Amino acid sequence: MEQTSKPLILALDNGGHPMGWLPWQDAVRLYAREEIVWVLGKPAVVIRGGTNRLTGLRSELAMHTIVAVRGADSRRRRITAPGLTNRALFQRDHQHCMYCGDRFPISLLTRDHVKPRSLGGGDSWKNVVTACRACNTRKGNQTPEQARMPLLAVPYVPSHAEYLILANRRILADQMEFLRMHVPRKRRHLL
Ligand SMILES: [Zn+2]
Repeated sequence: MEQTSKPLILALDNGGHPMGWLPWQDAVRLYAREEIVWVLGKPAVVIRGGTNRLTGLRSELAMHTIVAVRGADSRRRRITAPGLTNRALFQRDHQHCMYCGDRFPISLLTRDHVKPRSLGGGDSWKNVVTACRACNTRKGNQTPEQARMPLLAVPYVPSHAEYLILANRRILADQMEFLRMHVPRKRRHLL
């Protein structure tokens, strides 16, 4: 279907904080209910509606790629940590093994628990890193200290904006630029 290939719309709260991705159908509904209070960027997604019986013209709605939604306020924003998936983890670490530093295709990467689960380490953002199979096997059920394999970077919980970047494979340039401004400054260069 042609329509499923349209990019997702970035929804903001009234204060301009990124909230999440909307399928364009949801954004159309918000437009129709006049719940979109302001927009950013250029209209990039054109939605074609039905044909007007009198004029014979097809209606068109030019959808902006970044929209602020009425009534959505930051208190309703998810403040829990973003879901930990291998895909998001490997993206956080830019597909680099955090032990040898090499970059690998996703199929050759694994989720390593810095403090092994057998030693009580949790399955959480701050205790997992991307590791190649060789390093993960070599490390085994040991801590980095025990294995003498120092970590190249300290694992962290991605911010909400970083998570939104990780969660969408087809971010448009203006959406990316907007989200980057909401990423902690020290990590912006990584994106
Ligand atoms: Zn490695």
